[in-house]
Amino acid sequence: MAKKTVEAALKVEKLKVEITKLKETKKNIDQKNKQLKKLKKKETKTKKSKVEKIEKKKTKKKKVTQLTERKTKEAKEKEKQKAKEAKEKEKQKAKEAREKEKQKAKEAREKEKQKAKEAREKAKEAKEKAERTLEEELQEQLSPEEIEGFQIEKVNMEKLTNKVCVILAEKETTGMIQSELWKKLKLSSRDGSRLALKLERMGTITREKILEKGRWTYKLIIKKTPISTESIENAPCLTCPVEQKCTLEGEVSPRTCEWIEDWVTIEIKKPKTAQ
Ligand code: SF4
Repeated sequence: MAKKTVEAALKVEKLKVEITKLKETKKNIDQKNKQLKKLKKKETKTKKSKVEKIEKKKTKKKKVTQLTERKTKEAKEKEKQKAKEAKEKEKQKAKEAREKEKQKAKEAREKEKQKAKEAREKAKEAKEKAERTLEEELQEQLSPEEIEGFQIEKVNMEKLTNKVCVILAEKETTGMIQSELWKKLKLSSRDGSRLALKLERMGTITREKILEKGRWTYKLIIKKTPISTESIENAPCLTCPVEQKCTLEGEVSPRTCEWIEDWVTIEIKKPKTAQ
């Protein structure tokens, strides 16, 4: 019995030891489990961190890629824009060159035109100068009063005018070259020219500019004969007792009048004092 008790006690003790062992084992297991859990947690955390890191890295890489792509795109756009601008610039340059050429050509044409105009004007001027007469120069130099009041010293201008009129009247509408007339009247060219201007202004003659033997001169044509009182102051008709009956076709007529004949004879014989 005692043996059985001892055995039982030993068994109990053994069981206790076993239980203690089991407890320790359990404790160890629990501790290990705890450690394992901790480790797992840590591992999970590490893994998560790693994943986050990877994700972060990926995001960063993506961002870098996006940035690179954006930069590349921008660079491409920039290149494209640059090329476009260069093309535009070239186009503009070409256009400006064309415009410049056009303007240059226009200016050259204008210059040629101006040159031709100047040459024409010069030629016209030279022609006008060559065609310029003494009378035209006098007309520019003298005032209307100076032309109308022209007098030649010691010359009866009225008689001289009458002489001019008589000579020109003979020529009727055909007129006479002025140099011939001045020669006939023994007048200088300058006096003759001034006289012609005066007579034209008075309305006695007309002047026609003509080219005679390569020189420009004037043909003088009678317009109207001036009435000179001096030329008729001794005429018998002024005191004629039968003037009332005198007609061209009548019994008393200048055609048959002796008084007129005598008067004309005397007048013709008178010395010429016009010059
Ligand atoms: S022409 Fe003889 S007639 Fe006749 S008015 Fe004269 S002067 Fe007299």
